[in-house]
Amino acid sequence: MIDLRSDTLTKLKYKDLDSINYNQIGDDCYNEDYYVKKLEHHIANLFNKEDAIFMPSGTMSNQIGLKVLSNPGDEVITEVGYHICFFESSQTSALNGLVINNVRTKNGILSAEDVIDAINYKARWSDLYSTPKIISIESSISTYGGIIFPLEEIKKLRNLCNENNIFLFLDGARVLNTCISIGISPQKYVENIDMLNICLSKGIGAPFGSLLVGKKKDITTAKKYRKWYGGALHQSGLMAAIALNKLKDYEINLKIDHDNAKYLASITSKYFQLAYPVETNIVMLKTNNAENLVDILKNYDVLSTAWTSNMVRFVTSSNVNKNMIAQLDKIYNSIVKKYKEFS
Ligand SMILES: *Cc1c(COP(=O)(O)O)cnc(C)c1O
Repeated sequence: MIDLRSDTLTKLKYKDLDSINYNQIGDDCYNEDYYVKKLEHHIANLFNKEDAIFMPSGTMSNQIGLKVLSNPGDEVITEVGYHICFFESSQTSALNGLVINNVRTKNGILSAEDVIDAINYKARWSDLYSTPKIISIESSISTYGGIIFPLEEIKKLRNLCNENNIFLFLDGARVLNTCISIGISPQKYVENIDMLNICLSKGIGAPFGSLLVGKKKDITTAKKYRKWYGGALHQSGLMAAIALNKLKDYEINLKIDHDNAKYLASITSKYFQLAYPVETNIVMLKTNNAENLVDILKNYDVLSTAWTSNMVRFVTSSNVNKNMIAQLDKIYNSIVKKYKEFS
C-alpha cells in the first residue's frame, strides 16, 4: 500500500524507543516527569516563547488556547477553511462560547484587509456588543493544500491586533513544515504571534501530542483548563520522550517530505489539475468525482482522501518514499485510459 492519506498515520520504529530511560518517566500531574518537562522546555526555546504545555491533541491545544485568550461571547476572526472553523466550529462555540466571525477568502490567506472588513460589518458601538478578541490564523494551511501563511501578512495582522487590542493566535499544527519550506527559524516565524499550537503527531511523526506555546501566565491558565478537560495525563513522559527523539531529525525529514510532495505534484499535474501550489507536504488535485477517484486509486493500492466532492488530497510523510511515488505515473496513466471520466 502507498499510504498518502495523512501524516498522522506514520509508523513508530523500534529505534524511536531506544534511548528512553524508563526510570525518568514519572507522573506529570505531580510535576515529576522528566521528559514532559524537557519537551515543554525544548519547544518553548525553539519558538523563543516563555512557556509551553504538553497536550494530548491539537484540538485540545487549540481550544484551550482560544479559551485562555477570551471570554464567552467574544469573537474569534478566522477563515472558513482553517481547522478552528473547518473541523472545530462546534468545539469553538460549545466549549468556549466564542462567536466565529468567518471570512471566506479567495486564496486562503486571511489578510489584514479581510479582518478590517470582518470587524466593520458589525455593530461595534460599545462593548455591549460582541468584541473581537482573537484573530486565528494557520500555517501551513491544511485545507488550502498546505500553503504557507506569509510572514509579511503576519506582520500586518500584528499591527492591526495592537491597534485593536486583539490577540493573534496561530494554529501551527504544521508550523515546522512552514519554517522548513521558507527557510526561516521557528522563533522568527512566530515572533509576532501571541500563542500557538504545534502538533508532533503530524509530519514530525510522533504517535501523540501537541503543545500550546506562549506567555508564562497564559500557559499557567492553560494548565488549569487542561485539568478541567481531563487532559492532565499521568505518565505521558513516554509520549514526550518519543516526540523528543522524533524532533531530532525533523529538519531533514520534513525536507524529504516536501521534496516528495513536489515530485508527486509533478507527476500528478500531467494528468490532473492541481488545486493549489505545492509548498509543503500536501498535494490536492481537482476532479469532478473525488470519491470515485479515491476508490479507483485504492484498487491500485494507493490510499488518498476525498477532501471535498471535487478535491483529492495526498500527504507525504515517512510512510512513503520516492520509489513509491514514481509508481503513480503508471497508475494515473492506466486510470485515465480505462476510466473515460478522468481522461
Ligand atoms: C491535525 C490538525 C489539528 C488537530 O490536531 P488533532 O491532534 O488531530 O486534534 C489542528 N489544526 C490543524 C491545522 C491540523 O492539521
